[in-house]
Amino acid sequence: MKIEVHGGAREVGGSCIAVETDSCKIALDYGTKLEVEMPKLPKDFDAVVISHAHLDHTGSLLRLCKNNNPTIVGADITRDVTVDLLHDMVKIQNEKGNLDFNDSHAEKVSACWWSRDSVAMPGMSIQLQPAGHVAGAKITTVQAEGKKVVYTGDFCVHDTEILQGLRLETLPKKPDVLITESTYGGKVRPPRKELVKQFIAQLELTMDRCGNVLIPTFAFHRSQEMAKRIDTAIQNGILPKYHVYTISNIAQRINGYFNYHKQLFTKEIKAQKHPFNYRHVKHLYRTTQIETPAVVICTSGFGHAGASLRLLQEWCDDKDNAVILTSGYLPPDSPLKTAKEEGFFKTEDGTYDVKAEVKQIELSGHADQTELVKMVSKVKPKRTVLVHGDLEQAELLAEKIGELTDVCIPQKGEVIDV
Ligand SMILES: [Zn+2]
Repeated sequence: MKIEVHGGAREVGGSCIAVETDSCKIALDYGTKLEVEMPKLPKDFDAVVISHAHLDHTGSLLRLCKNNNPTIVGADITRDVTVDLLHDMVKIQNEKGNLDFNDSHAEKVSACWWSRDSVAMPGMSIQLQPAGHVAGAKITTVQAEGKKVVYTGDFCVHDTEILQGLRLETLPKKPDVLITESTYGGKVRPPRKELVKQFIAQLELTMDRCGNVLIPTFAFHRSQEMAKRIDTAIQNGILPKYHVYTISNIAQRINGYFNYHKQLFTKEIKAQKHPFNYRHVKHLYRTTQIETPAVVICTSGFGHAGASLRLLQEWCDDKDNAVILTSGYLPPDSPLKTAKEEGFFKTEDGTYDVKAEVKQIELSGHADQTELVKMVSKVKPKRTVLVHGDLEQAELLAEKIGELTDVCIPQKGEVIDV
């Protein structure tokens, strides 16, 4: 058996890993990178297994489906969300003048999708199990030629307000190879309860001084988690009845999928009739509909475009306003990264100084270093391959797990013999 890392090697973005035997070749994820040209990944796979619906794991499916009829395996909700996000990607690309793809290619992804937790390929079996991280996220176990490979995709060990974390004891033990994400391989986060407290305190502090709070998030899952967190806090009297809005048509549509698939979530969520129809969080179509002071949850998550960029431009000049970043990872070129680290950001319209408070509270859906080490020590893999993390993060994790397992941080295109 051979493993080849085509994307997500020593970086976050464009995840794609090939697993090949004499009789079968599959891809684990088929992602793209934001803001750069779509990578040219190989297409000769018997099946493509998708771990979850983030574009860095799915985005290149448009290219794969353009002139082919591949077999794509993943959860129902991953299909629904992926197809919506791909339609959106087509729209954005077309607006930029790139006409390589159209809506029929996104629809083809849906037509080629197999919703399965278990697949038999020639001489190979594939099993999927919940990974935490986002709704529908899966950990994949591949068995072939007497070998076992476990691929974590992105995973989260702790429970959140809406989703149960991965239960480590359910993972297959002693695989020949564990391929794991290492996004936060070098970081230890404070306990989640502490971070939620900080988050609530930051909302109160900003609203008390009549400032606005901008919360840039991803349309899928983080938006729903954030809206539900604030909605529940207001419902329980922890927060006053602020003006709270979401501005993202895709997020609004995904709320519908979440209501429909509510069995994927925690028992509190399952017990509610329509858990993602919020009582105190209102959906808006335009930023001009906002009644200030307000808390606004909107896309894009890194402030590259959409309502989050517009509001960042509008609100950055006032020191009473606040921007809360809940992702620990920010791409090097993102407006939010320079706003946080250097006090300015640049757009096509010019350079903006940021006087508003920019606060990072990492309510992340990824395992941190402590959780990653715990996972490796429970699973006891012979060899561990670190992907989906910058080199620095992967190296810091490698130092911690080096006594437990052989560790490899492959480069793009590197082939690992199993
Ligand atoms: Zn992800």
